Parts: sequence; C-alpha cells; structure tokens
Amino acid sequence: MPLLCEVAVPVPLARAFSYEVPPALAASVRPGARVLVEFGRKKVLGVVLAMSEGAAPEGVRLKPIAAVVDPEPVLPPELLSFLRELSSYYFAPIGEVLRLALPAVEREDVRALEAQGELPGTLSRVKQVGGRKIAYARPTDAVEEPGVLRGQAASVLALLRSNGEMPIARLEEKFGNARAAVKKLASLGLVVTEEREPPRDAFFARPEPRDEPPALNEAQSAAEARIEEALQGLGAQKSASFLLFGVTGSGKTEVYLRAIAGCLARGRGAIVMVPEIALTPQLVARFRARFGDDLAVLHSGLSEADRHAMWKRVRTGAVRVAIGARSAIFAPVANLGLILVDEEHDGSFKQEEGVRYHARDMALLRAHRASAVAVLGSATPSLESVHLVRQGKLVELRLPDRAHREATLPEVTTVDLRRIGAGPTGNKLISLPLHRALEKTLAAGEQVILFLNRRGFAPSVVCESCGHVATCLACSVALTFHRARGGRMRCHYCDWEGPMPAACSECKAPALALEGLGTERLEETIAEAFPTARVARLDRDVADGAKAEAILAKMRAGEIDVLVGTQMVTKGHDLGNVTLVGVLNADAALSLPDFRASERGFQLLVQVAGRAGRRDRPGRVIIQTRNPEQPAVQFAKRHDVSAFLEHELADRAEVGYPPFSRLTLFRVDALDEEVARRAAGVIAAHAKTSPEGQSRVVEVLGPAAAPLARLRGRYRFRVLLRAKDRRALRAATAVAAAAIAEIDRRVRVVVDVDPVAML
Ligand code: ADP
Ligand code: ZN
Repeated sequence: MPLLCEVAVPVPLARAFSYEVPPALAASVRPGARVLVEFGRKKVLGVVLAMSEGAAPEGVRLKPIAAVVDPEPVLPPELLSFLRELSSYYFAPIGEVLRLALPAVEREDVRALEAQGELPGTLSRVKQVGGRKIAYARPTDAVEEPGVLRGQAASVLALLRSNGEMPIARLEEKFGNARAAVKKLASLGLVVTEEREPPRDAFFARPEPRDEPPALNEAQSAAEARIEEALQGLGAQKSASFLLFGVTGSGKTEVYLRAIAGCLARGRGAIVMVPEIALTPQLVARFRARFGDDLAVLHSGLSEADRHAMWKRVRTGAVRVAIGARSAIFAPVANLGLILVDEEHDGSFKQEEGVRYHARDMALLRAHRASAVAVLGSATPSLESVHLVRQGKLVELRLPDRAHREATLPEVTTVDLRRIGAGPTGNKLISLPLHRALEKTLAAGEQVILFLNRRGFAPSVVCESCGHVATCLACSVALTFHRARGGRMRCHYCDWEGPMPAACSECKAPALALEGLGTERLEETIAEAFPTARVARLDRDVADGAKAEAILAKMRAGEIDVLVGTQMVTKGHDLGNVTLVGVLNADAALSLPDFRASERGFQLLVQVAGRAGRRDRPGRVIIQTRNPEQPAVQFAKRHDVSAFLEHELADRAEVGYPPFSRLTLFRVDALDEEVARRAAGVIAAHAKTSPEGQSRVVEVLGPAAAPLARLRGRYRFRVLLRAKDRRALRAATAVAAAAIAEIDRRVRVVVDVDPVAML
C-alpha cells in the first residue's frame, strides 16, 4: 500500500492537497512536518496535515513529496489540530492559518536541502534564520597584492569595505560562494570573522531579583484553590475555564503567578497572553522575579533570529512559559496545562487583518482541546465572558477588593461640559474643576494622568467662512492637524499627510481654523498653564514599543508630573503616586456607531480610573462629559462593574446583539462604488436564499454602506449575518462565502466571524 499524505500549501485555498510519500521519506514525513512539494510548476513549502495508507483515486497520479525540511515536525500534534480547527471556525484558508504559527526555516536545514539538489530558489521567499550564533565578517586594514583577488572574493571584499561589518548570511544572499570567499579573504588577512550570540532581548536587559511571594488574601486564596483543583484534575477530568473578575489592583497577577507555579510543578507548560506586551514590561518583570529567566517573551520587537531562538526553546521544552500578545496563542508549548488571558476584554485580542481570529476565544478552544485550564482575567470582563459564566461554561472567581490594604478605589466625579465652563486656559475641555484639581495635585507633589483619545493637535480643520471641514481625499474622515514637523494635516486611517492649505478648498476663503483638542495640543496647553510641571505625552505619535516603556519608566521614577495620552495611558500600569486622573472627553468613545461602544467606553473609564490611588494615598478621578446621565458614566462613577454588566446585558438582549446572538460580517470593498455595492448585493442574496436565510433562522442585514464608507480610496459595504444558533450561522456563512468565487475580481471580500471592529 503506498503511503499518502495531505499537505497544506501557502495559497489562499481552503483545501489541502494529496501527495505520495516516497519510501525513503516514510520515516520522516509526519503530521506537522514541513515538506517541499511540487505545486503547479513550482516547488513550495507545505505542511503535512495528515497521513494515510491507500491508493490514489483512479486515474490520478499523485506527485511525490520532494523533501522534508525540518528534522522534527515543527508543529506538535496538539497545536496542529488546534490550527485546523481555527481555520475551519474562521473560514480561513489552512495555509494562511499555518503561517501564523510556523517559525522561520533554519539555514542549516536549507543547506541540507540544497545539498540534496533541491532548488535553492524555492525557499528564497521563506524566512530563514541561522542557528544560535551569527557569523559576521569585517574587513581589516590590510591591503591585498594587486591581481590576487578575482571573482566573488573581490566583490565580497568591495562590499565589506563599503558597508563595514556584515553577517555572512547577508553576503550569501548576494553571492552564492560568499562563504568560500570569506574563508579565502580571512586566510589572506583581509577579513576577520566572528561568531556572536544574537542580541539579547530588551525584556531581559536588566537582571531581576527574585521576589518573595506575598501571603495571599482570602479572595486570592479561594481563587488559587479553585484553579489548583482544576490543575489537579487535569487529564483525568475534562478541562475547566475560569473568569477571574477582580477590581483593578486586586492582585490578579499574583493569582496568575500561583497558577503558573502549580502548572509547572506538574510538569506542564503555560501560555500567558496580554493585550500589548510592549506596554507591560512590569508584568514581565514580575514573572521573571518569580520564575527566573526561563520565559519566552514573544513580541513584535524581536529580531527574526531572536524570535526563532525563543520559538525553539519553547518547542524543545527548554522553556515552559510563553508570554506575549495575541499571537502567543500559537506558541508550541509542550504538554500545555494552562492558558492565561490578562485583560481578556481588550479589543486587541482580535486580529483585524489576514486571519481574523480572536485570541481569547481561541484560548478557550485550545485549552479545552488540550485538557488545559484557561483563566480569563479582567476588572471589566467582556459581556461575552459574563454570558459564558451565566451559561455555566466559565467559572467565576471574584477578587472584590484592592490588594494593598490601604488602597481604596478612587472617588469619581463628573463634570457636565454643557454647564461648566473653561478654566483659566480658556479651553473648554480643561474645565475649571479639572484645572483646580491639577493645581492641588501638583502642589502636593503627586502625579496626574490626563486621558484623551484623540491624537494630534486639532481633530479638525474647519473653514470659518463656509463651515467646510477638510477631509481625506481617499477616506471619508476629517483630517487631523498635527503640530509636529512644521504643521501638517494627516489622515489617521490611511496615513496620508500633507501641508495645511492657505485657504478653504471649497470657498477659497483664507479662514481655516484648528478646531478641537488633541493630545498634542493638550500637552502644550497644560505645559503653558503649569510652567513648573514636567509634562509628557504618550500616544502612537511619540511612542511605540520601547519608547512607550521609557516614558512610563520616567513616570514611575517620578520624573514626570503630568502624563497626557491616549488609550496607552489606560493600560495596567501600576503607578503608585498617581492621585488624579482626568478623562477629558468621555463622549468621544461612547458615541461611536458600534453596538459595543458603551461597553468599550465603560471599560476605558474604569481602566483609566483604576490608575488613580493604587497605594496609600487616595485617588481622584474627574470624568468630563456632555451627558453625565449615560449608564457607562454613571456606573463607572460608582465603580459598579457588575451593575453595568447587568444593565448592558439587558440592553443587548433587547436588541439581539452578541452575546445573545452570533454575527458574521462580510466586508466588501472596491475602488468603484457601484462594483462594491453590487458585490455586496450578491453576497446578501446568496445568504438570503440559503435554507437558514429563507427560514429566517439567520437574519441577513444589508447590504449597506459601512459606517466608514470610504477607506484608502476604496468604497466599503457590508453584509451582516446574525443568528442565535451557531450551526445555522455557519451554514449560511458557508453559502454566502461560496459566492465570493463568482464576484468581480476587483472586489475584495473579507469574512469576519465574530467581528469586533464594526466600522
Ligand atoms: P491586578 O493584576 O489585579 O491589577 P496586581 O496583581 O498588580 O493587581 O496587584 C496590585 C498590587 O498589590 C501589586 O503591587 C501587588 O504586588 C500587590 N499585591 C497583590 N497581592 C498581594 C497580597 N496578597 N498581599 C500584598 N500585596 C499584594
Ligand atoms: Zn485617508
């Protein structure tokens, strides 16, 4: 009987392809292994999904597997089957899903393939990395005898002399014989070579002293005991999933640490997911203090070599805890025992491009399949998770109080922007009460956080003569004025940027005015009004990744008095000396055209309020709004998360949105408006004529123009499928998705299962 295997190739097709396994490769072709296969006229890198014994179908001649790439399968069976399930859940091509989890190919393995006579070109587009060390070549001051050097040796030397030191691997990209050339040059004393470790990751730059675990308080102990119990039951019993619902500063992280310790003690591994790893170095530091440096921190700042080194340490079991943002869900942790999702409500767990997976939902799935324990933690749980608790699918663990005994929740007051005027700065968004509170806090030598979710200097450029608002030519949004780099108008959606015109583009009047307040202007205004205060800003324009951490480190060190910023200031920083938090305009987040606007706005308010008074000094929060009566503001004011959840759940139930229904969003866009509209119509028609559509078990809403009707020059439409029953929704989605093949090729269609971004 010939041995066959199913191979997923990196093409946007849902199906895998069958190949024959030549007897010589029978021992090394295994599920999860990468192989080279002929596909069309090319050789491509594929992943073996499954093997079977049997004959090819009548009349079909299967091609053989050309070569096996990695000595060991890169994807362990547990991870491979999880990825296949994810692919089917999100209607995402398996080849693209696998790409999310696959590491780079090791250069050594590539060389072995080349030695077997496999085309080097095949793998040229695949990411490759060297082993642990990187070899560099550097030119010396020595001068060659004329006429000694020919061919590549001469070219390599010339390149090195113009560039200075280079990795030999980089030279090889240009010159096939670079290695031999470097050897020759080295023997002539013209070049020296050196092997070096890849640069050490910034998260591990400073040593972290081990900590002494604190004695848990009662609520923490109870939570720990429940998780322990579940960890003990592993293997024997079915898995268990928890929602750790604890107010900000209640010591959730301590519970995570204990859970991991329990997991490690049983010889199992753990995955920890956080919204933005770059903003949580403190969390990483706490993990290092407890477990030492045997952690893999997966983040976007890693070099390809570092990422691969981390991946390998996890895959071989040298490291058993992986921490990262949403993509950490794909870490090949062996013998997985625990998945933690911190700030589980955070929108960043949803990937909004390519494969649109939700890492929190997938954490529950992967944990379940791996018989592992899942713990979702938050101070403001998502309605989805709360709903799962009510359905008995998640067990709720509560931490009702702040862990530091003296720390209490801050006092929250609202400022009604319709009634209360500007303070001394004259800016309406810096109200008199806020101004006075700033004065008082600064006088006491304490710190302030001011939150405004608008980047730039002024959110709009308006003509004072005709009222025309400057908008992006490619997107249906207003342009934001940025003061930086001499004053430019920028589109926050497509990143277009241009000079500010002298006159209105409509009426030609030279009367353009900068309206509204962005973080840039806020920083400037505060710095002017409080000349002795040290004011800093944290938003995407000044900081991402390492820079954000540098700003936060200064804040922790007390070198900043007022930190102004966007969402970035709301995340879980533990800043002991912050006693005043100002929310400049709560309405900006609460009035978006999205059924989750209220939930998200509420989470934001509670999270930012949670930055105040985390230690012994009481904190104060001022929320400015034009509608202080709205529920999100009212419940945030009382710190009553449970009551908000109750209220919001009732609202959702009434309108039939998630978690009381499930959604699939078809996003359709094209350069031509009519073409896009027609395509959306085709998809909607197919969905409506599916059996589930006809019986109205699945509602088809649309086609309709998207709230953001135009983006990057493309017109956007959407079709929303909604149903109570997941199976019915899947069936209708499949019918509508099948229609995509018939649609005009100029149209882009994205299937978004369980959509989060609704714009
Ligand atoms: P959360 O993750 O819920 O926001 P943290 O775990 O950051 O809360 O805890 C807030 C603060 O309380 C931290 O400084 C932490 O070290 C401290 N803490 C946590 N648990 C205890 C405990 N049992 N006893 C004393 N301090 C604790
Ligand atoms: Zn734009």
